[in-house]
Amino acid sequence: MVRVYGVIGDPVEHSLSPVMQNAAFRALKMDCVYVSFRVSRGELKDFIDGAAHAGVRGINVTLPLKEEMMRYVTPDKTAEKIGAVNTVDLRRMRGYNTDFSGARKALEENGVELKGRKVLLLGAGGAGRAIAHMLAEEGSEIFIANRTREKAISLAREVGGEGYGLDSLPELMNKCEIIINSTSVGLYPRVNESIVPGNLIKPHHTVFDIVYNPVETKLLRDARNAGAKTIDGISMLVHQGAESFRIWTGRNAPVDVMRSAVMEALR
Ligand code: NAP
Repeated sequence: MVRVYGVIGDPVEHSLSPVMQNAAFRALKMDCVYVSFRVSRGELKDFIDGAAHAGVRGINVTLPLKEEMMRYVTPDKTAEKIGAVNTVDLRRMRGYNTDFSGARKALEENGVELKGRKVLLLGAGGAGRAIAHMLAEEGSEIFIANRTREKAISLAREVGGEGYGLDSLPELMNKCEIIINSTSVGLYPRVNESIVPGNLIKPHHTVFDIVYNPVETKLLRDARNAGAKTIDGISMLVHQGAESFRIWTGRNAPVDVMRSAVMEALR
């Protein structure tokens, strides 16, 4: 019998997870299918009960449901710390946060050492929270800047860092070596916007933008032009998906196949 997996959220039509996960299932000749379900906040509980009952094996969770999902599953230690779940094993009703390991893998894959490094995290939303906790676990010195300053300060307090508003960017860019954008600024269709003025980027910076559509955001273009090292959001997307795949199936995901499927879809 075909095993069903999926992604839930609202909106969910733009998600690349179906393309990525179905490519993985095909490559490993697994009799599985991955679909998207549009589920709004008010419908979450009914969806989970219904899906678990119908035998859906696992789901990814996207905006705006990641925090609310905590109420219906047993989160693992990482998801508990972050306060958000993006992967659910519906057979065991357990929740995970693979943005955490996806971001770590993306940096690792690009040879970025985090221990003891000064990292500027831009944004304090859902993905920002996962990355801030990952940086704390890796032993980075954490500086967080967010449009809503209070959220940066509160998250910084949780992870032992410092929180600022965006007006502090010039001094923070001076101080930090690794810059991570976890805001949605630069995301399609507003592709000509960047959270960091280009003149603040220097060759010694490593700039990681988790926005993956477009693959090269304005921030990354400016960073490349400034001679800085750049890391795009595809690697994190693929690794968080690969970790979800492993959680559900117990098998290692074909990461290269997933990456090609995403790149093809974005073209
Ligand atoms: P979220 O929870 O809604 O957080 C959005 C963040 O962006 C907040 O910090 C928000 O600041 C900031 N922001 C939004 N508009 C802004 C603007 N005009 N100027 C300055 N700051 C602004 O969203 P999320 O789930 O963290 O996702 C953020 C982005 O990461 C999305 O583009 C998403 O696609 C991407 N993402 C990528 C991956 C990957 O695997 N590569 C994984 C997860 C997410 P305030 O707090 O002030 O509102």
